Amino acid sequence: MADPAVVADLAAARQAVLGHIGDAAARAGRNAGSVTLVAVSKTVPVERLTSAVAAGLTILGENRVQEAEAKIGVVTGATWHLVGPLQSNKAKRALAAFALIESVDSVELAERLNRLAADADAGADRAAVLLQVNVDGDPAKAGFAPDALVDALPRLAALERLDVRGLMTVGRLVERPADARPTFVALRELSERLRGPEGAGRALGTELSMGMSDDYPIAVEEGATIVRVGRAIFGDRDHH
Ligand SMILES: *Cc1c(COP(=O)(O)O)cnc(C)c1O
Repeated sequence: MADPAVVADLAAARQAVLGHIGDAAARAGRNAGSVTLVAVSKTVPVERLTSAVAAGLTILGENRVQEAEAKIGVVTGATWHLVGPLQSNKAKRALAAFALIESVDSVELAERLNRLAADADAGADRAAVLLQVNVDGDPAKAGFAPDALVDALPRLAALERLDVRGLMTVGRLVERPADARPTFVALRELSERLRGPEGAGRALGTELSMGMSDDYPIAVEEGATIVRVGRAIFGDRDHH
């Protein structure tokens, strides 16, 4: 059951984030409606998520398949994005659980998802994915290196059961939010390059998933179509 006091708090947090998205979009001459808010709900318990959905937070992001499955069975009315690394042995379960897998970080994983999607119902939709890019070349981060993605795109474009909607990145930790801007610019420019004359054209969608609690307004200024916000909605996570 949704708790009215919790719903009110989360609705206020949602409004505040949407307000910042709206302001950032206006600064960039963009329509705020072109930005999707994903509420990143990892470590947040199901009781609170039931209230979150009642507060209008209906797109939830999780970073672990198993944790998400447990929540999906209980929290109704939400759609779910996978934002964390996907091991190939969990690919089939991820396809069943998530409306969008944002974290495809290798050709092998893409090919596996494509095969699994082909095995599924012939009439089913293609599997919706984003390609995660390690824009900053951070050794601690997953994702395609930008140049490697340029090379891999023809192979990815040939995967007929995948709907590659765009790119995703996790920015590096920076002291000031403004320092995240070059990462977001680089992802946008990479997307334009990949979709341009040298790239695979329409094989790659226009989504840009970038920006988290500390820097999502800057990401929106630089063209984010999806922002993934956890702490700014749910508060700090306990370490677990
Ligand atoms: C946890 C997480 C987020 C949300 O981070 P916050 O700082 O809580 O907003 C976004 N994207 C990914 C990939 C994450 O793992």
